[in-house]
Order: sequence, then C-alpha cells, then structure tokens
Amino acid sequence: MFLLVAGKTDPGKCRANNEDSFSLVRDLSLFLVADGMGGHAAGEVASRMAVDVITDHQRRGLSGREPLQGRYREDFANGTNRLASGIRVANHAIFQASLDNPAWHGMGTTLAAVCCTGDRAGIAHVGDSRVYLIRQGEIRQLTEDHSLVSEQVREGLLTPEEAARSTLQNVVTRALGQKEMVEVSLQEIDLRSGDRLLVCSDGLSEMVPDGALLAVAGGTKSPSLACRRLVDLANQLGGKDNITVVIIDSVGNRLVYWFKRLMEGFRRG
Ligand code: CA
Repeated sequence: MFLLVAGKTDPGKCRANNEDSFSLVRDLSLFLVADGMGGHAAGEVASRMAVDVITDHQRRGLSGREPLQGRYREDFANGTNRLASGIRVANHAIFQASLDNPAWHGMGTTLAAVCCTGDRAGIAHVGDSRVYLIRQGEIRQLTEDHSLVSEQVREGLLTPEEAARSTLQNVVTRALGQKEMVEVSLQEIDLRSGDRLLVCSDGLSEMVPDGALLAVAGGTKSPSLACRRLVDLANQLGGKDNITVVIIDSVGNRLVYWFKRLMEGFRRG
C-alpha cells in the first residue's frame, strides 16, 4: 500500500511550551505521536525520547540484531510486535532517566503509533493520544483512552456527556515512564485504498468533536492541508493544550496514484 503522510504540531493558545512530539519515519512506515508530561520541560524530554527510542528500536530490528522485549504475539505481524517491543524499551528508558535526573523526576508521555507492513497497519497506544480511522465518509476511534474518565464511561459510572464536562479529562491511567513495566494496547487493521488514519494528541481531540474532525479531515484531500486546518480549528475552539496531528492516507498502488494525479493535472490544465 502506498502511503501519503503529513504531520503538524502547535503549542496552542494557552501554553508557552510544546511538550508533544511526533515523527513520520517514511522508510519504516512508522508514525508516532507522543504527549509528554512533567514540569521543567521534562514532558518535552519524555515525548522526544519515546519517539526517538521507538524509531531506533524499529530500525535496529531490520538488522536482526536487536532482540524483542516482552511477549511475542503470534496473532500479530512482526512489525506490530516490534512496535510494542520498542514502546516497552522506551518506557524503560524514560523511567530510568527520570530516576537518574532529579529535574526529570515523574516525567512521562502518552504514545499513539501506527506501523504499516503491506496492507496491514499495526496500531499501538498508551494513554489518551488517539488513532481514528476515516473510511467511506465515517470516522471511528480505534483506540480506547487509558484515562480516568474513559474508564468510568466504560464501567458505566459516567455518561459520555458527563465525561466531556469532567475536570479530570487530563488524568491518564497509563503512560510511558511511570512504572518499570508498561502495558501496551495493540491492534491491527487491513488498510483499504482511500482509508485515512488520523493520529493525534488530546489537544486536538478535546477541542474538536468527532463530527468536526470528520468534516475537516474527511473534506480536505491533501494530508498536509488537512493537518493545518485541524490545528487551526483546535486553536479557534480555544487551543487549551498543545496540538499534534498526523495523517496517513492509504492510496493503493503508487503508480496508479501518480498516473491519476497526472491525469487530473491534464484535465485541470
Ligand atoms: Ca496534552
């Protein structure tokens, strides 16, 4: 599957720093969003470490000399297992760094990741950064937030409306760097031509409801323009937090894609 990708991050309207990090590693088909937390700019350190360590682990995996960390799941592709392994390695690295450096004590980060192999997309997350699928005019949140309010909704203790109004929205129940071990949520989907994956930090999803995400992301063809419009909308709606968005378009066969683009150009010409 040929992928077109774009990403954008923005500090938002209320925060001086941007503690989010993202990475588009095209040659590995690896796309990451991390939302850091911790005082004294430690959140930036944690989110950047997560992105860098996971990328490095994925790249070393190609050489076959980097062993996998944690349980291997036979029901998932190798790339997805490698992704989960990288997240565990990053968790440990952040946890250790926070112990070694008093200024970084307690730092952590969420992580939402997509790693594609052929038509298969491995999706991993920890915390409340999200992955959405936009397919045939509909949007579906693929990840379940590891957050206090989401867990209360799942247990029937809160309605989704109450959750949306809660002042505890930012409390995550899982993050990298908080404990020696981390539990990674994993899934895989088969990508179809025309699918769009949207990966974001809560600075986007808390500001922009799903319907508006679909209206903007579903109605803007260019991934980079869609990212820019989503960030602009989150800022218009308050921009209370750092905003990060990554868009991954599955456009089928590369040659067919460029041929179609060429023909569109001729028709417009
Ligand atoms: Ca955030």
